Amino acid sequence: LRSRLPHVGTTIFTEMSQLAAEQGAVNLGQGFPDFACDPKLIGLVDEAMRAGHNQYPVMTGVPALRAAIAAKIAALYGRSYDANSEITVTSGASQAIQTAILSSVHPGDEVIVIEPAYDCYAPAIALSGGVVAPVAMRVGSEGYSVPWDAVAAAVTPRTRMIVVNSPHNPTGSILRAADLDALAAIVEGTDILILSDEVYEHMVFDGQRHESLSRHPRLAERAFVISSFGKTYHVTGWKVGYVAAPAAMMVEFRKVHQYNVFTVNTPMQHGIAAYMADPAPYLGLPAFYQAKRDLFRAGLAGSRFELLPADGTYFQCVRYGAISDLPEAQFAKWLTREAKVAAIPVSAFYGQPTESGVVRFCFAKKDETLHKALETLSQL
Ligand code: PMP
Ligand code: GLN
Repeated sequence: LRSRLPHVGTTIFTEMSQLAAEQGAVNLGQGFPDFACDPKLIGLVDEAMRAGHNQYPVMTGVPALRAAIAAKIAALYGRSYDANSEITVTSGASQAIQTAILSSVHPGDEVIVIEPAYDCYAPAIALSGGVVAPVAMRVGSEGYSVPWDAVAAAVTPRTRMIVVNSPHNPTGSILRAADLDALAAIVEGTDILILSDEVYEHMVFDGQRHESLSRHPRLAERAFVISSFGKTYHVTGWKVGYVAAPAAMMVEFRKVHQYNVFTVNTPMQHGIAAYMADPAPYLGLPAFYQAKRDLFRAGLAGSRFELLPADGTYFQCVRYGAISDLPEAQFAKWLTREAKVAAIPVSAFYGQPTESGVVRFCFAKKDETLHKALETLSQL
């Protein structure tokens, strides 16, 4: 068979979760919570099914959910998206990302991806016939940051899109207002689109605010802004997300969406729409995850791991050079087998082999799970 994706294997998340299961290790690799979601949310989905919401919804998503999403974005970020023409419910953020790329990247177009980068952008770009133009993040004692001068230098007449992700997987870094201004200056006067992956929008710590691209008028007018209820409501297996974008971009997005999935499962959309009436669950998320981050960091503080800054997401990156000189993928496997704690090598988030001696732990876990992992990690 002639593969469309010859260089793609099984994702690192699947690989490490399998190894963790085989080894009976604590799984701090793949990012998902090991605790239950709010039973009220399950009750609302149950109610929706019993009320008969079990057939296809409209292609763009249940109107009540689109209205709730638009209201939330307006309240938090101050931009009014039209719920009918500018918001679409998707099968997780993954499908929103794939569809946004397929609907706007033409063969030969270049897409700037800032690395390390979440693993689903590059295959979607390849399937579109586009080419990834990677730009490496800078990493220093202050942690990871985006070198905007290098992003500007990577722009060519073929650049069709720039992908940004804040809060950032895997590094836990966030974009600040000055970053958005720098990005706006780069795209000014061009027809470059932006894909903004904001699935961790409600996990920003230490009183800092999430700089959604929807806050920034000059960026919002050319951006697909994407989020995921899987992250926000602790239900990664439900695969419900959304995209907000100006109407002209959304017309193209929906042309692909309607043949890609057509629409997304009905009862969960109704349940989530009803649950969104109360903002407390997402407004409480920074404090909830900050407590877990602090517990995890405190547990590693006296260890030989070097903690990198963690401003957002539910990931903590660490340098392990004082413990081992193994390459990242091998170290992550060694850790899973020997210390019985699974992690993700950050090298998996680069298109070309790149070793920086950093692995990622996920702290979206019960405190008891984190304590169990820390018992061994702190002794290494
Ligand atoms: N983007 C990033 C940065 C992610 O970490 C994830 C989840 N792993 C996704 C997108 C995909 O989200 P979903 O599960 O809603 O498809
Ligand atoms: N986004 C999750 C992570 O970064 C994994 C999702 C997946 O397994 N594809 O760990």
